[in-house]
Amino acid sequence: MKTPILLLIALLAFPTIGFAKPNLTLHVFECGNIEVRDISMFSPGIDKGVTKELTNSCYLIRHEKGTMIWDTGFIDAIGENGAEGFGGMIKMTVTNPLSKQLAEININPADIDYIGISHFHGDHTGNTNLFSNAALLIQQAEYNAAFGPAPEKFGFNPPSYAQLDKSKFKILNGDHDVFGDGNVVIKSAPGHTPGHQMLYINLPESGPIVLSGDLYHFTKNRTHKRVPSFNFNKEQTLVAMEAIENFVKDENAQFWIQHDKEQNATIKHSPEFYK
Ligand SMILES: [Zn+2]
Repeated sequence: MKTPILLLIALLAFPTIGFAKPNLTLHVFECGNIEVRDISMFSPGIDKGVTKELTNSCYLIRHEKGTMIWDTGFIDAIGENGAEGFGGMIKMTVTNPLSKQLAEININPADIDYIGISHFHGDHTGNTNLFSNAALLIQQAEYNAAFGPAPEKFGFNPPSYAQLDKSKFKILNGDHDVFGDGNVVIKSAPGHTPGHQMLYINLPESGPIVLSGDLYHFTKNRTHKRVPSFNFNKEQTLVAMEAIENFVKDENAQFWIQHDKEQNATIKHSPEFYK
């Protein structure tokens, strides 16, 4: 009879035994700025010739079982003077290098365990070579495009991710629970690119958050479900939008649009963090 009594005492003393949430935090980094000279490239036929500023975001997830970087932004080398992109339709700048933001919180990129890239467009893979020790989490369809015969055809920039360790790749076919406890889950959402994916994080205090990848680039496109002209597959994109919106609603999750400058201005950035 001793064991049940001791167990009862233990449960009374530590009521969260068995269902305590793990230590889990989320840092947000500003990984560049984008001056868009004609925003209708994201919303065909709408707001032609209208300029708009977008931001670029990267994230660090620290879980008791490991660390993960989500997207790596523009390459730091772009710097303050910036560079033109998309045939002169955008101007990119980096005023606060990701490597510096990581150093500020004593993170060595070589120590990161996992790297999740929403998709392989150059504004999401810029600093990927910093994380060459990490295991890449990539959908099969994105892998086929990014490491196939013609990555450039998909708007990808192979030198930006050439130093990843292929022996550590984890090829996914759909959703993936990164740490096995349901609190950090990659959500498949193809269409923007062949294997576009998003990230769900369920934080102990802040609750569930979904990171958009490029399902939408700004809030107005989310409101009207507009699909950029350069998306890989419009129909797939619309299906993914509906599935993710249902998921966000069911989970009562916050939805953070990675490129939305106005929304990002309301979010805490590193060295502050969410827990
Ligand atoms: Zn993007």
